[in-house]
Amino acid sequence: MSDAGVGIKQRTQRWMRMLIGLGFAAILIPALAGMLTAQSQPYDLLLRNGRIVDGTGSPWYRGDVAIRGDTIVRIAPSISEPATRVIDLGGQVIAPGFIDIHTHARRGIFDVPTADNYIRQGVTTLMEGPDGSSPVPLAPFLAKLEALPKSINIGSFIGQGSVRSAVIGDVNRQPTAEELDKMRAVVEQGMKDGAFELSTGLFYVPGTFTSTAEVVELARVAGRYGGMHESHMRDEASGVVESVKETIAIGERGGLPTHVSHHKIIGVGNWGKSVETLRLIDEARARGVDVTIDQYPYTASSTSIQAALFPAWAQEGGREQILKRLKDEATRAKIKAESARLIRNERGGGDPKNVVIARCEWDASLAGKSLADVARLRGMEPTVENAAEVGLWIVEQGGCQGIFHAISEEDLERILRHPATMIGSDGEIPIFGKANPHPRSYGTFARVLAVYVRERKSITLEDAVRKMSGFPAQRLGLLDRGILRPGMKADIAVFDPARVRDMTTFDKPHAYAEGFSYVIVNGQIVFEAGTMTTARPGKVLYRLHSSNPPR
Ligand SMILES: [Zn+2]
Repeated sequence: MSDAGVGIKQRTQRWMRMLIGLGFAAILIPALAGMLTAQSQPYDLLLRNGRIVDGTGSPWYRGDVAIRGDTIVRIAPSISEPATRVIDLGGQVIAPGFIDIHTHARRGIFDVPTADNYIRQGVTTLMEGPDGSSPVPLAPFLAKLEALPKSINIGSFIGQGSVRSAVIGDVNRQPTAEELDKMRAVVEQGMKDGAFELSTGLFYVPGTFTSTAEVVELARVAGRYGGMHESHMRDEASGVVESVKETIAIGERGGLPTHVSHHKIIGVGNWGKSVETLRLIDEARARGVDVTIDQYPYTASSTSIQAALFPAWAQEGGREQILKRLKDEATRAKIKAESARLIRNERGGGDPKNVVIARCEWDASLAGKSLADVARLRGMEPTVENAAEVGLWIVEQGGCQGIFHAISEEDLERILRHPATMIGSDGEIPIFGKANPHPRSYGTFARVLAVYVRERKSITLEDAVRKMSGFPAQRLGLLDRGILRPGMKADIAVFDPARVRDMTTFDKPHAYAEGFSYVIVNGQIVFEAGTMTTARPGKVLYRLHSSNPPR
């Protein structure tokens, strides 16, 4: 090979390298320019100087959080790039917006789409359709929610009781094979429409007429779509241990995760049984059953007077049938005796004073009065028997929502400490000042942080936040919320851990929580400086089928 030949080869190689270099540059320069613009483009919102409690349960760390659009884009010890708005938090806690896994938000969301009672305690996502009760079919309800400008995110379950009611009515009998197929199809459609779970309310009519085997059949359908089964159990009083066993069995036999809703032990005679129910849950988890719990931090429950104080058989077939039974003297006496027993030993907490009316459509003045008060108003001594008579009268008039003081603080705290327990309010969206709702709607999350974290130190701040965000998000398959990380949706609650507290009480329930300074939903501030903003960034959330196809 001649020298000249070598020269040509070297020159060619040099040219080749240059061309390749230019090619890379052609790709790299715009990419670099893009990165530079992205970096020089200000963030929309920068939260500086926070104590980050990230929702995983890890100890807090100091840092800044940058948001662009609806997404957290950066978290670092100190972020100095420009932002359209910078807020110095002065060391307050930055937590993921709380996810309430158990609400009755369709009671109120269309009246109060800002959901002030929830937003003002840091809740940014609500789950609807628990206790076996949801709209059926689900799609029109979700479409109506889509059309509603709202401050908060909302998703729904499909309710087994509502499905059964739609297919065979509120009757106490087994479904035929055809009816069971029909129910399966309705549940499947609900899951396809975006339901997160199958909920059951085996305590209520018609859930109470449903056998475990029938629930398992429907649970399997939800499980195929990646959903879990969650239950307001058949019995939260004398039969609570059996009911926890049933809830576990539904998960085990149905091959899906299962969940005890608002776990509590009702009735003085049953107090302490949480030792056994939690042991059952630990044992189930140890053998591989995926079972979890939620809970609200109050020693009183709330449901309708009828559901709580009437035996199931007396509620079969709907209102007309109930009224017919109450007109028959012998049947009425039987219902009254059963009701007196429930006041004495279960929901009634042993004393007519312990049953308080929350809301009556037909007489608003009864809200806040106990069964003892109403007995006196009706010229009777406040005995248990007379309280039962008052309950019968209330149902005849059209029924009321009640509050039932019959839970012990010890059971409550034991359940709260359990690692598989998350927080859920079981609340609704009250119209401020109207009726006498259970304070759980206004105070659940703030109360856990104030009473059980700060005052009693039952659980740590980080664990409480985990129970309110990362844990329920994982349970619901909400993979882009519940934890503070770049790439996650910017749902954020900022609060002062020394000042946060619930202001609502059983006597004066209409009071917002205190101590929250900013609440952010999908990157937009919905609450600041003590008031709701005009932003309505709330979204309807769906179980994601594209990333989670039926198994
Ligand atoms: Zn319930």
